[in-house]
Amino acid sequence: MVAAAGKLRVAKTIATTPAILRAKPSINWFLCQYLRKFTVIDVDGKLVVHSHLPPLNSKAYQRFIREHLLSRFAGPSHAQIGITNACPQHCEYCYNKGRKGEVIDTEMILGAIRDLKSLGVFWIGLTGGEPLLNKDLPTIVENIGGDCASKLFTTGCGLTKDLAMDLKQAGLTYVTVSLDHWEEGQHDAVRKYKGAYKAALRAIEIFLELGSLHVSVSAVLSKQLFQLDAVEQFLHFLQNLGIHEAWLSETKPTVESCWDKQLQITEEERGSLMALQDQYNKMGGMTVNYLSHFEDARHFGCTAGHKMIYVDAFGEVSPCVFIPMSFGNIQRRSLREIVGNMRAHFPTENKCFINKNYEIVQKHFAGVSPLNEEDSNRIMDEVVFGPRARFFELQYR
Ligand code: SF4
Repeated sequence: MVAAAGKLRVAKTIATTPAILRAKPSINWFLCQYLRKFTVIDVDGKLVVHSHLPPLNSKAYQRFIREHLLSRFAGPSHAQIGITNACPQHCEYCYNKGRKGEVIDTEMILGAIRDLKSLGVFWIGLTGGEPLLNKDLPTIVENIGGDCASKLFTTGCGLTKDLAMDLKQAGLTYVTVSLDHWEEGQHDAVRKYKGAYKAALRAIEIFLELGSLHVSVSAVLSKQLFQLDAVEQFLHFLQNLGIHEAWLSETKPTVESCWDKQLQITEEERGSLMALQDQYNKMGGMTVNYLSHFEDARHFGCTAGHKMIYVDAFGEVSPCVFIPMSFGNIQRRSLREIVGNMRAHFPTENKCFINKNYEIVQKHFAGVSPLNEEDSNRIMDEVVFGPRARFFELQYR
């Protein structure tokens, strides 16, 4: 944890990035207000606010300041890449459910990483399927390099101590292990896989034993958990695991089985979790990082298709993992061209695109995910964007 001396170090780190002084005062003020909601953690010399941002003292963070705050790159900052669609688990809410096609190979994945970085991406999430099933995972991590933060999303299935060590040596910045419930039976049931819970806990243990990797749990919170008022109990359990961060998201209306209105999380429920997040983060210890807090109207809002993009394991490019719409395939067109066209549709907004527009997506859905480019363009003709969130209001004003 960063105590007094550490805080001084954080202040120095920020101060030694003099370029930030050239950003608008209103943006600097916004960032100070946002960052002070979290306790900066020192993990083996890396100063981490939370795992959706690169460490403060990293080259990736400097790129955020240089390329996005100052030069205002008209390109994405965050990307996720599906590096395999294979997975032993079968989650009901999986955003990749039903996707098919020709899987992109390692050469194409490495090409996508190069293209994404040249477009301005400084944070890449490796997802799947289960990314550990891609035998080239350490090479992929190594190619992301030190000027871009890397985050691995895994169920933990198939992890060995040797592989964990290889990933660390390849320069992995963050790892997050999926865990949706503190009870074994419940987690295994959600994942439709006996042994999912044991594999997740074992993986957390292995990653923590390395001693120098930032380890979080990625939890998809169900409506039921909110209704039972059990989120705090879950956080308490996660805290006792000794992890650095609880990365929380919620079941989103991405796939057919989640389009039921009754399953949607209400603004009130979101608000109560954001309050809980602030409460935990004031105490220090495990960071609580709720995606809806980052994407709240007072902060960064929905950056889908504008600052965030998703390349799935078949090369289809979507605005974010939760939006089952494709704007092109990198096996047929250049990523730069696809991103340029997609970005023209997404100006950013203060509300989650898929939470707000899933009924329009549902109307056009014909059983194949993601929807193809033609249908995606049709959907965009019907979508009406509202105001931007605070950060982009200040940045683009
Ligand atoms: S659609 Fe929702 S989940 Fe996706 S980037 Fe926007 S706010 Fe985040």
